[in-house]
Amino acid sequence: MKKDVYSNYKKFYLNDVSIHPKAFSIVNEAQPELRRAFDAIDERAEYHQARILKVFNKHRISQRHFTGTSGYGYGDDGRDALDLVYRDLFGGEDALVRPQWVSGTHVISDGLFALLKPGDTLLSITGAPYDTLHDVIGINEAVPGSLRDWKIDYKQIELLPDGNININEVKNELLNPKIKTILLQRSMGYSTRKTLSVEEISSAINDMKAIRNDIFVLVDNCYGEFTEDKEPSMTKADLVVGSLIKNPGGGLAPTGAYAIGTTEAIALLETRLTSPGIGREVGSFPSGYGYFYQGLFMAPHTVAEALKGAVLAGKVFDELGYSVRPHWKESRSDIIQSIEFKSPEQLISFCQAIQTASPIDSYVVPYPWDMPGYDHQVIMAAGTFIQGASIELSADAPIKEPYVAYLQGGLTYAHVKLAIMKVLSVMLKEGFVQL
Ligand SMILES: *Cc1c(COP(=O)(O)O)cnc(C)c1O
Repeated sequence: MKKDVYSNYKKFYLNDVSIHPKAFSIVNEAQPELRRAFDAIDERAEYHQARILKVFNKHRISQRHFTGTSGYGYGDDGRDALDLVYRDLFGGEDALVRPQWVSGTHVISDGLFALLKPGDTLLSITGAPYDTLHDVIGINEAVPGSLRDWKIDYKQIELLPDGNININEVKNELLNPKIKTILLQRSMGYSTRKTLSVEEISSAINDMKAIRNDIFVLVDNCYGEFTEDKEPSMTKADLVVGSLIKNPGGGLAPTGAYAIGTTEAIALLETRLTSPGIGREVGSFPSGYGYFYQGLFMAPHTVAEALKGAVLAGKVFDELGYSVRPHWKESRSDIIQSIEFKSPEQLISFCQAIQTASPIDSYVVPYPWDMPGYDHQVIMAAGTFIQGASIELSADAPIKEPYVAYLQGGLTYAHVKLAIMKVLSVMLKEGFVQL
């Protein structure tokens, strides 16, 4: 093979960045075959970019929308226009975008409490929801303040072995009039299931609404935004929610969450966001909304970078003999790449190596810990600019069998690629992989 076939910079990587020559070759050799997958990702980003530009232009977004207000925040134009931008972009009847929502869990929790009343039953049709929702629902016990504590019952229908929604059982369960709200999670989250496509979500909602038009459907859209042409908010879903420190914040939004939905569902959610009678009319954010707008504008590109990084990681670890999900040739509906390791030690080594390849806190060594809201010990590598932002390169893993690491994010493809080379080099040195 020709010398320096991959890059003119090889010497720099090997000598100055401590990349092992084998790690360098494996990652660079994996790339050419991904060209078509990358082109498809970039084309989709261009489409979403055009959609965003159109909506910004329509609402005449200008400098004044970036300015914050104080106190009650009456007449906060930046806040109100951001709602309209999200509404139009995500195709809902109405939307709320707020820095006051502290996380994805918070907006999902508010959504559930808005759409359910004591005596109702919540039905999850995608198996166990994301870990942090277990206490919100009170799945295992009536945690104070949980849905169960408020006499709202919960049922879940497991996904079929092939990962699809068990629509027959769902239809059957809907005969129970106590079921008032359906929870549907798009992304695999911390589980080994597949991620559901918008088309699969849409079809399930159509089937359910054909039987019961009085139910609400809440979709947890975390990690899914801009990975497909359409969003779940363009289906018959009543409420679609997600976190701004994931995809739609584009790596710039400092905190917050969004909700898109029907007029009715958003009106109910407003009362939980603040209080009945006050709703969306108040709420200030003195530091302003510039990063929320700019982040949204950047989001299709950022998501594309993260997706390309995920595809590359999937290919590299697949070729090294690890079980990965999704496969690099499969279509994606979220930014997560799961990689199954053979032992807890190997899993921990992977996450620690990701941390060393981070721009922030690279000297910190993450260890598994009892994170609030999670049932198992969790290790999290997140050397991010915005604390916990998983649109930035990060890896999480619950310490339980199967030993799966969930890799996601990356503000630039270049960073993810470098991180994969670095991870392989570190793991090789520690004896946790063979190259
Ligand atoms: C991230 C995420 C959430 C919410 O998590 P937060 O850390 O509270 O933002 C919920 N569901 C899924 C599938 C997620 O990925």
